Amino acid sequence: MPIGAHMTIGKGVNKALDDALSIGADTMQIFTRNPRGGKAKEIGEDEARLFRRRIEELNFGPWIAHAPYTVNLSSVKEEVREFGIQTLKEDLKRVDFLGGQYLVVHSGAHTGQGTAKGLELLAEALEEILAQSPPTVSILLEGMSGSGSELGATLEQLKWVLGKLDKPNLGVCLDTAHLFAAGYDVRRWEKLWQNIDEIIGEKYVKAMHINDSVVDLASHKDRHAPLGGGMIGLEAFAEIVKHEQVRRLPLILETPNELAGWEKEIALLRKYQKV
Ligand SMILES: [Zn+2]
Ligand SMILES: [Zn+2]
Repeated sequence: MPIGAHMTIGKGVNKALDDALSIGADTMQIFTRNPRGGKAKEIGEDEARLFRRRIEELNFGPWIAHAPYTVNLSSVKEEVREFGIQTLKEDLKRVDFLGGQYLVVHSGAHTGQGTAKGLELLAEALEEILAQSPPTVSILLEGMSGSGSELGATLEQLKWVLGKLDKPNLGVCLDTAHLFAAGYDVRRWEKLWQNIDEIIGEKYVKAMHINDSVVDLASHKDRHAPLGGGMIGLEAFAEIVKHEQVRRLPLILETPNELAGWEKEIALLRKYQKV
């Protein structure tokens, strides 16, 4: 039951790991490159080897990589889809080079073509990406809040893509704030998890983002709040993190905080899990 937060990689992956350890984390999430896209910084052989060794020695993780926000595999524009495909192919190799297992990818937005067409394009692109990807690294489609033409905001949509590809290296990452904003009441977790299991199948859920939400249920906006500082509330998080199936997942905080704030939130979640 590793718990951590999203760490910056501005000073390299080993510094990100130092930061994670300094706040009592035993997992973390890092961007594969600048979240708004752009060229990825080269990771040196020595840097990667040291990172892989430390991860193993510390029994840290599984940790999570997150793809840039600019990736949209469902865009109406072919050049945007192609950029996404190339970026994810490269990033899967980078994650593998660092010894990682998971790359979280946003489900994208159909940008006017309609949900069905958007999902078709998403599945097609994932098919191509996963055909040549390292077998030990999985893509995790992130469930979204459903703002604008965003895809992946319903369990049925996520299920459709999973079912269409039916690949062992494709799973999902659920975000409590996104679920809530998409209309799923995470404050009734036991019931919601049953729903998730029935529609997606719990074995496909490989990681979770633990965030409170500034906006209310079904607001369809992506606005993270610190735990207890939003509409979800601490009582719900206590339920969520001690849930039997959630305990086995890497849990990542993406709350608006600094290291000291995440340290407190990690300690709080661990306390809830002990109860
Ligand atoms: Zn995300
Ligand atoms: Zn979000």
